[in-house]
Amino acid sequence: MGEESKHVAHCLVLAYPAQGHINPMIEFSKRLIQRGLKITLVSTVSFWNTTTPHTLKSLSSSDPQNIQVESISDGYDNGGLAAAESLEIYKETFWKVGPRTLSNLIQKLASNNNPVDCVICDGFLYWALDVAKDEFGILGALFFTQPCAVNNIYFHVYKKWLELPLSESEYLIPGLPKLAASELPSFLYDYGSYPGYFDIIRNQFCNIHKADWVLANTFYELESQVVNWLKEIWPLKTIGPCVPSMYLDKRLLHDNDYGVSIYDQNIDSCIKWLNDKTKGSVVYVSFGSMAGLTEKQTEELAFGLKESDCYFLWVVRDCDHAKIPKWFLETNDSEKGLVVTWCPQLLVLTHDAVGCFLTHCGWNSTLEAICFGVPTIAMPLWTDQITNAKHIKDVWKMGVRVDADEKGLVRRESIGNCIKEILESEKGNEIKNNALKWRNLAKDSVDEGGSSDQNITEFVAKLAQLCST
Ligand code: UDP
Repeated sequence: MGEESKHVAHCLVLAYPAQGHINPMIEFSKRLIQRGLKITLVSTVSFWNTTTPHTLKSLSSSDPQNIQVESISDGYDNGGLAAAESLEIYKETFWKVGPRTLSNLIQKLASNNNPVDCVICDGFLYWALDVAKDEFGILGALFFTQPCAVNNIYFHVYKKWLELPLSESEYLIPGLPKLAASELPSFLYDYGSYPGYFDIIRNQFCNIHKADWVLANTFYELESQVVNWLKEIWPLKTIGPCVPSMYLDKRLLHDNDYGVSIYDQNIDSCIKWLNDKTKGSVVYVSFGSMAGLTEKQTEELAFGLKESDCYFLWVVRDCDHAKIPKWFLETNDSEKGLVVTWCPQLLVLTHDAVGCFLTHCGWNSTLEAICFGVPTIAMPLWTDQITNAKHIKDVWKMGVRVDADEKGLVRRESIGNCIKEILESEKGNEIKNNALKWRNLAKDSVDEGGSSDQNITEFVAKLAQLCST
């Protein structure tokens, strides 16, 4: 008999079905594959059905180096959340069907001679940790797709160390700067809004004591104080920014895209349009994959962009297109302002022509701006975005923030002033320099010997050790 082949640890990586959740988990998976692990990436049947098929094919090609893709069910295989009557009903069904189909999948993989050693689950899908630990007795990790600052705030809520509804005007939470109530995630100060999402977010911590690891898509240097605090109570490892390697350390050759996109990216039209523009002249505007502006807010933004007379590339998803005012569509010169339904955000943010990013401050968009040193105009809408915006402006000092009026509407003047401030003022230059400082720290953290690189190496070594005992 020849030498017994070495056991390769197999991780099942389970992502909540949303663009902003799957992107970082794919990038983390690629870093694990680079270190010799086997990965099965799992999301819901309905999610895979909405992604552009060529990308999924390239992820799951027969090359053993590539990620294997599998599905579980959320109970709505034809349509996902959009097919459910409400988020609350969707969640209730998913939470019943998901664990059962995950369990079936782990059994199927085992019977195909491909047993799972460790389940790495999105914090939103915390029940997968119970399946891994209680049903199969295998290793389990929680993966947080939001910053540690926000995880800590929600953990305080879960523990009832922070009482709701809020009663103070300011809060001092360990590891964080002093936060006004209005700088906490929206689910806290707007208590009772989106109860379904809030319930998921609060419960992320209900079984955290079972986790062998808690992984967070952030990097130590960005959030050192809160990471130090949380490391005392969780087996926490910061492993981000989970952004394709070719934009950072370039050690994963050809890794220049997440690999999954929920919409067509309009690559040619965006890049061709940007190629004609002078360096640093374009405002890139996007509010991510989930939240939308109201009709009134869309109109104010349209006025703000038009009146500022800047070049702009504005992403308005198909579902929000009807909110764009008619006058805007009729008078817009597409050489001045390009409106697309989705774009290749990484290519856009790293394009020389882009001078700033008007963003909703979703965590992936925030990290991408950090990784590429792009100054930002923060226009947060809900959930963690509010707290991320606070950090962007006041802690990392790599952006400005729009002001809302007493009705919560961001007026065209505020949008115009922010654009001017970033693109034309002395303060704008300071902000750009700070953004570049963070870019270098982000790159260092994932490069050889950096804080996240070391944490991933330690995770893999420990996993190998535990799998062989
Ligand atoms: N994104 C993209 N094209 C777009 C807009 C967004 O590829 O036109 C990507 C973006 O790069 C990011 C993700 O979608 O990785 C959005 O995640 P984020 O956390 O910023 O926001 P969410 O969609 O979760 O609100």
